[in-house]
Amino acid sequence: MKSDENKLTSFRPIEKKGRWRLPKKLVEGIYLLEGTFGSNVYALTGNGLALVDAGFPVDLPRIIAGLRGIRAKTKDLELVVATHYHGDHVGPVAGLRRRYGVRTAIHREDAPFANGERPIERFEVETSRLIFYLALWPLFRYRNFPVDIFLEEGEQLDLAGGLTVLHTPGHSRGSICLYQAKRGILFSGDLLRNERGGLEGPPPQFTPDVEAAALSLKRLKDLDFDVLLPGHGEPILGGAGDRFRLALRRGEIWPLNLASFSSEAG
Ligand SMILES: [Zn+2]
Ligand SMILES: [Zn+2]
Repeated sequence: MKSDENKLTSFRPIEKKGRWRLPKKLVEGIYLLEGTFGSNVYALTGNGLALVDAGFPVDLPRIIAGLRGIRAKTKDLELVVATHYHGDHVGPVAGLRRRYGVRTAIHREDAPFANGERPIERFEVETSRLIFYLALWPLFRYRNFPVDIFLEEGEQLDLAGGLTVLHTPGHSRGSICLYQAKRGILFSGDLLRNERGGLEGPPPQFTPDVEAAALSLKRLKDLDFDVLLPGHGEPILGGAGDRFRLALRRGEIWPLNLASFSSEAG
């Protein structure tokens, strides 16, 4: 027994992700289900129960535990709104649908990738990273699922006090942000991330349409938001719009910091 105990105590998680923690209340009606390996997963309460993004397939138990943490039952989950079709955002959707009848909303241009009508886009990856991604591939792979609600620009969702769909392509054709003017809340998906100690644009190696991504980021520049709920990294609960505009002026946001876009970025 002794040796087994030693084995257990010598185990250390590689990073903070994957720990089981209680959901964090961000603003009224919006919680972060913490500890997911894939994207951030936000739970929206108030008008039924919904998620914005759902992480990797392996995140399903964390979602179920997270919902329990806000005293909600997984069977009460009605909808997953996906910011785009990538496997780190919609991984458990097929399982949630099968087991709990959860519906999915995704932009109409990403729907054919989510439901399997079209093969997922190929990305430009440097050889050095290729092995890394091949090793991670089982994590990214997910079962396709039928899309119930095809989202479009300007559509209003009756969630968390009202969210407007902004079509912000580039990282994928049908990437969206969700915006609430009243409280200055922006769900940014992978268009704007906060992972490595600062704001970042979409990951270049996974963003096929650079020009569209630049236009989408420019759109955010003129948006009045205070609370940023990104697809990856820590949520920002105040002054997010100002931080974004400062990062833009400092040339920290790809692809607006490229020579071809930078003259118009500030
Ligand atoms: Zn993505
Ligand atoms: Zn992502």
